[in-house]
Amino acid sequence: MTSEELFKNLIAHAKEYGFIFPSSEIYDGLSAVYDYGQMGVELKNNIKNYWWNAMVRQHDNIVGIDSAIFMHPRIWEASGHVGAFNDPLIDNRDSKKRYRADVLLEEHIAKIEDKITKEVEKGRKKFGGAFDEAQFRATHPNVLRNAAKAAEIRENMNAALNANDLDVLKQLIIDCEIVCPVSGSRNWTDVRQFNLMFSTQLGSVSDEAGVIYLRPETAQGIFVNFLNVQKTGRMKIPFGIAQIGKAFRNEIVARQFIFRMREFEQMEMQFFVRPGEEMKWYEYWKNERLRWHQSLGLGNEKYRFHDHEKLAHYANAAADIEFNFPFGFKELEGIHSRTDFDLSRHQEFSGRKQQYFDSETNENYVPYVIETSIGLDRTFLAVLSAAYCEEQLANGEERVVLRIPPVLAPVKLAVLPLVKKDGLPEKAREILQTLRSDFNCQYDEKDSIGKRYRRQDAIGTPFCITIDHQTLEDNRVTIRYRDTMQQDRLPVAEVAVAVGSFQ
Ligand code: ATP
Repeated sequence: MTSEELFKNLIAHAKEYGFIFPSSEIYDGLSAVYDYGQMGVELKNNIKNYWWNAMVRQHDNIVGIDSAIFMHPRIWEASGHVGAFNDPLIDNRDSKKRYRADVLLEEHIAKIEDKITKEVEKGRKKFGGAFDEAQFRATHPNVLRNAAKAAEIRENMNAALNANDLDVLKQLIIDCEIVCPVSGSRNWTDVRQFNLMFSTQLGSVSDEAGVIYLRPETAQGIFVNFLNVQKTGRMKIPFGIAQIGKAFRNEIVARQFIFRMREFEQMEMQFFVRPGEEMKWYEYWKNERLRWHQSLGLGNEKYRFHDHEKLAHYANAAADIEFNFPFGFKELEGIHSRTDFDLSRHQEFSGRKQQYFDSETNENYVPYVIETSIGLDRTFLAVLSAAYCEEQLANGEERVVLRIPPVLAPVKLAVLPLVKKDGLPEKAREILQTLRSDFNCQYDEKDSIGKRYRRQDAIGTPFCITIDHQTLEDNRVTIRYRDTMQQDRLPVAEVAVAVGSFQ
């Protein structure tokens, strides 16, 4: 099965089992907006808790806030979003489809890099054990030519983006002979800038003065509360403020399921440090965040760093943690050294000092900031796509199992009476009652036990216990493990420990 087919199956599965529904589905949906269903919301809440626990609970010097989505419009002028939160868009006149100019170029570069990979694989097959990849890459004429081509396009694109030169971007698209994937033509419009912020009106006045924005990132809510938190929490630098919340971006091309949405959630942490110490903390948080991802156990090889060449207007260093999604390695989290840009700008625009008095150095300064910014929905997709597995069993049957890390699984334990009579349902409910305050449990008495196991596999429940006639006599149950499908017999009193120890 191709990864594209697998991804399609995953999307269908997510809908069938109550993880994700297209928004407003009975009205034919709303583009790039999704709703989380009964299983989805559990998984999402568990991801939030896992992050919050690691970032806030485990650090003495990090606290959380929950700021409003609506903020004073001057904030977005100060942050640079009104002037510079743009994407370069280009239309194809024949298909009437709209694209991000930089994405068209990135995809073109990816195709060239694909050719290189294929050439290397050909070489590996040809030379077998004697194959020296480094030497092959350094000498093979086709590889060298394509690598130089990709590097040149990337360099020109980054230069054009940095200089905001839209004519050069268009020329690059023409020079690379990029065609519209839908119409196949090269009939392109000029490249234009498009601001990604949604705007709306505050109150009943519908003039310019009433315009406010839906926040495109949660970070600014943290910056404008920097002194509130620092003073009321008596925080000493270095310290961090964390927040989980909705953000909105009018993405030009929103696709790949919940990877790129117009309404999404971010989990961000801004870490305030002494000027001059930002690179040390930048490296620290890069490593810490990678460790957090790896602790989920989805496979260390699924992550990689991508250092930014084109830096945002506020940053002096930036890297992404990329995840190997079903459509390739893409950004999951950004770690940015944001300098003192945001606080200085708010100081300038609000006229209020945004400084910290450092009692160790006896100095007043505007702190520097390291940001860790991770998409909750993208993490959800990472977990789901790593967990989704279509499996052929030894007895010839097939099962779809979600190998979600137990700590994140929507339902931790299913309680299943073997039959619907002889007092087994009553006994099962009695056991359920003692366990449901410890973890999310599900009770199921319908259909054969095999079918019930399959249903739990499909939503990723790591443990099932079965109550049978023997249980009535010895108070022992059969516990069945999702991943190995192995079964053990154990006393009811030990179930909580068995389930808890895997969390
Ligand atoms: P991209 O380059 O993919 O557009 P970005 O660099 O603009 O992302 P940031 O501004 O760094 O993203 O936002 C931080 C995180 O928020 C991203 O790493 C991503 O996980 C998440 N995110 C950003 N835009 C979206 C979106 N449209 N849908 C879902 N998650 C998003």
